[in-house]
Amino acid sequence: MVQKKVLVIGSGFAGLSAATHLAHLGYQVTLLEKNSTPGGRARKFEAEGFTFDMGPSWYWMPDVFDTYFSHFGKKTADYYDLIRLDPSYTVVFGEKDFMDIPANLAEFRKLLESIEPGVGPKLDEFLKQAAYKYKVGIQDLVYRPSRSLMEFASPKLLVDMIRMDIFQSMSKHVRKFFKEDKIIRLMEFPVLFLGETAQNIPALYSLMNYADIVLGTWYPAGGMHKIIEGMVSLAEEKGVNIRYDAEVAEIIVKNDKAESVLLNSGESFDADIIVAGADYHHVDSMMLAPEYRNYNEAYWDKRVMAPSSLLFYIGVDKRLKNLRHHNLFFDEPLGPHADAIYTNPRWPEKPLFYASVPSITDPTVAPEGKENLFLLIPLAPDLEDSEELREKYFHMIMDRLEKLTGQDIRNHIIYKRSYAHSDFKSDYHAFKGNAYGLANTLLQTAILKPSLKNKKVKNLYYTGQFTVPGPGVPPSLISGHVVAKEVIKENNL
Ligand SMILES: Cc1cc2nc3c(=O)[nH]c(=O)nc-3n(C[C@H](O)[C@H](O)[C@H](O)COP(=O)(O)OP(=O)(O)OC[C@H]3O[C@@H](n4cnc5c(N)ncnc54)[C@H](O)[C@@H]3O)c2cc1C
Repeated sequence: MVQKKVLVIGSGFAGLSAATHLAHLGYQVTLLEKNSTPGGRARKFEAEGFTFDMGPSWYWMPDVFDTYFSHFGKKTADYYDLIRLDPSYTVVFGEKDFMDIPANLAEFRKLLESIEPGVGPKLDEFLKQAAYKYKVGIQDLVYRPSRSLMEFASPKLLVDMIRMDIFQSMSKHVRKFFKEDKIIRLMEFPVLFLGETAQNIPALYSLMNYADIVLGTWYPAGGMHKIIEGMVSLAEEKGVNIRYDAEVAEIIVKNDKAESVLLNSGESFDADIIVAGADYHHVDSMMLAPEYRNYNEAYWDKRVMAPSSLLFYIGVDKRLKNLRHHNLFFDEPLGPHADAIYTNPRWPEKPLFYASVPSITDPTVAPEGKENLFLLIPLAPDLEDSEELREKYFHMIMDRLEKLTGQDIRNHIIYKRSYAHSDFKSDYHAFKGNAYGLANTLLQTAILKPSLKNKKVKNLYYTGQFTVPGPGVPPSLISGHVVAKEVIKENNL
């Protein structure tokens, strides 16, 4: 039997997941990646003895990874060792005002009681509802391709959706249970991963609090890139042919069918089916002739993008004190920073930021006696990005980091690299230099997201953080699985 040929574009979590599922189902799969290493936004690089994860650093929802590997008869532990972090992370509210978030639920409850006496039973109820949302949301809804409303037309699901607070904001939901500002900020933090503030994210996403508080924060020994290494090795075991430095310039369509792709190098590849895991806007607007595009530029301009980011990868020649593996600097109010990201896009006056120090957990990511420091400032997409601005913001957050943790860091930096909008654009063809794709607002959820199927080209599909189910590592893994199921449903082997 001649196997059908599938071309997958992009080796991020979604592309690797789609390629591996399709090869496992019996297709002949070639994966084309523009960069010379796999992982997309989750690539790594090495410099001066340090190993830096370039993007994601939070390993949440371990069950989603376990489910992924189990589809192929494997276990997560076959590819990397997981460590549960305790404390899960620390929140810095000000000088000498740090809050370690314990991994243990009873300890966590005690911590909240110490801030807001009597809050324990409210936390229990909040988590009970969050657990239900997690069960329905992550074990069912996210696996739906969301191509038609009919997928959701079942009485039970309708009841489930109402129970899941689709139409209430996360911000209101949290305030129904908690009064103290610190607790509210803590409970609203996880939805920042979804690319919007709690006012604009449906309360359905309190499922993220369940992931945070109950399922925990984990770390793959060796770094987040170990997940990519595991996925690449599994893809290759399944027969996926991965081609690096293979940038797709054009998808050639004849008679409403994609026939081949043309690389920048001039090389071309035939296809029976194409699954595009590169940024949706780039594929739709740059690789296809106008008559085959799913959406026009006016559509894209109206999308609410998740933020971009200014990142610093830093090697320090000493061990740092008063920092944990994950540190959220909430020492400035979120309101003005959120306004600078979502409402009046600009470089923020007093940004919140995040610092990760994986060498606290993992000695392999920094030379002995040294520290691996990753800094992240969320920013509006599409901002002017210059070396001067990056340096200005570097010193702005370093002033705070040094003061709040009580140590000199700048004079001990032996390696530093910055990364922002223009890098996201040149490395990933990221629309407006986005970091995390589209925000998960109500109007950009499920069938209201860019569709995973091209409406005019019958054998062209999309996967990744711009389509269902959304941004983040677990959703991207799921997206690859969902698209593979659609491919097999619509195309005989
Ligand atoms: C700084 C940062 C921090 C993050 N932190 C977290 C976190 O802690 N936890 C979490 O869960 N998520 C996090 N995320 C989000 C998460 O990393 C992403 O949602 C996820 O990696 C997206 O995967 P993807 O496969 O959709 O896209 P990508 O990883 O972008 O993959 C797309 C691939 O397509 C390739 N490509 C583009 N154009 C072409 C072309 N023309 N030809 C061939 N290939 C092409 C790109 O090179 C890339 O490899 C973070 C993201 C960033 C940027």
